[in-house]
Amino acid sequence: LLRARGLHKSFGDNHVLRGVDLDIAPGTVHALIGPSGSGKTTVLRSLNGLESPEAGSLEIGELAIDFSRPRTRAERAALHRASAMVFQQHQLFPHLSVLGNVTIGPLRVQGRPRDEVMADALALLERVGLREKADAFPSSLSGGQQQRVGIVRALALQPSMLLFDEPTSSLDPELVGEVLAVMTELAAEGWTMAVVTHELAFAREVAHEVSFFADGVVVERGAPAQVFGEPRHERTKRFLQRIQ
Ligand code: ATP
Repeated sequence: LLRARGLHKSFGDNHVLRGVDLDIAPGTVHALIGPSGSGKTTVLRSLNGLESPEAGSLEIGELAIDFSRPRTRAERAALHRASAMVFQQHQLFPHLSVLGNVTIGPLRVQGRPRDEVMADALALLERVGLREKADAFPSSLSGGQQQRVGIVRALALQPSMLLFDEPTSSLDPELVGEVLAVMTELAAEGWTMAVVTHELAFAREVAHEVSFFADGVVVERGAPAQVFGEPRHERTKRFLQRIQ
């Protein structure tokens, strides 16, 4: 489904991505792990068009992008539609209800019929146990509930893949489980997912593949059992020793 090659991105003098390759097969979960500042979030944002690498290429489904050339308007729109992002801080609109937050993209950006959008949104909220919160405002929800709304908002866009940027790292520990449970269900349903995470237990149990990032490149990639159990690179070994 997704194939990225040679992604390069700098912020000023900071050469953050130094030739990142990433492949994600349809229906699989790919975990992006590695030290802080290694470029994981920047890669994820590049996949969705929120960052523009200076060089490299990206294929998602039928869409092929060459980052060394400016994007056309149609390419930008297609890139944005191909995936949907769940952010570290859920980034819900505080002045909109839960239902308003979930439906604004499909209604305003995608221009889908209102009846269909409303019915889909309510069904998705039901699935994550938040149907009764449809009219509530984000500030009245717990962090875990807010993040589940963030996931529903992404699903409501009907993307071909889901991108998660450290979706549990701003939550209190007791709320992490409910969000990981929804993500585990989505994985079991066959969603294609790229997940930047510090939850190594989740990466080990749910991901089909893991890419370990360091200094702007993928140092090592493989099945979780291999990367966690028998890391080949010194950098990976040191990282895992430090945090396990
Ligand atoms: P973390 O696990 O801490 O989120 P990460 O691996 O996701 O780290 P990135 O967030 O991709 O790393 O950041 C990589 C580098 O790029 C960091 O040095 C960061 O300061 C820098 N960076 C990211 N976004 C910007 C930006 N918009 N402007 C300037 N520098 C940025």
